[in-house]
Amino acid sequence: MVAIWGRLPTLDRLLKWKVVDSNTCPLCSNQPESIQHLFFECGYSNVIWSHVLRSLQFTRPVGKFDCEMAWMMKAAKRSGDRFKLLLIYFAECIYGIWLQRNAKVFTNSCRSSQDMLKEIKFRVACRATDSQHQLLLA
Ligand SMILES: [Zn+2]
Repeated sequence: MVAIWGRLPTLDRLLKWKVVDSNTCPLCSNQPESIQHLFFECGYSNVIWSHVLRSLQFTRPVGKFDCEMAWMMKAAKRSGDRFKLLLIYFAECIYGIWLQRNAKVFTNSCRSSQDMLKEIKFRVACRATDSQHQLLLA
């Protein structure tokens, strides 16, 4: 999965290809967009990811992209429902944030981070096993 990161056409690349004329992050309109910014540092994504961490009782602040990726690499090797859920959340967050980013770029509409969080929770619940549901409800 990590191999796809460099291939996501974020705005800084599209800008080089002259597809768009601005490289401001479409989700926060506040910072230049890049992979590094989009998924964790962006205010939109930060709200979602920090909520996910708290809901699974991980008491750590959301770090920069490299820091989060390194942490997730370690977490992926751990066993137990809490870490399995974390991985499912991670995939759904990246996917969901990327879709919202595209919706904003291509249709100029996107859902609030709170709405997105609800949808992500629903998607995770759909993929969770019975014993993982206990943790989601805790
Ligand atoms: Zn942003």
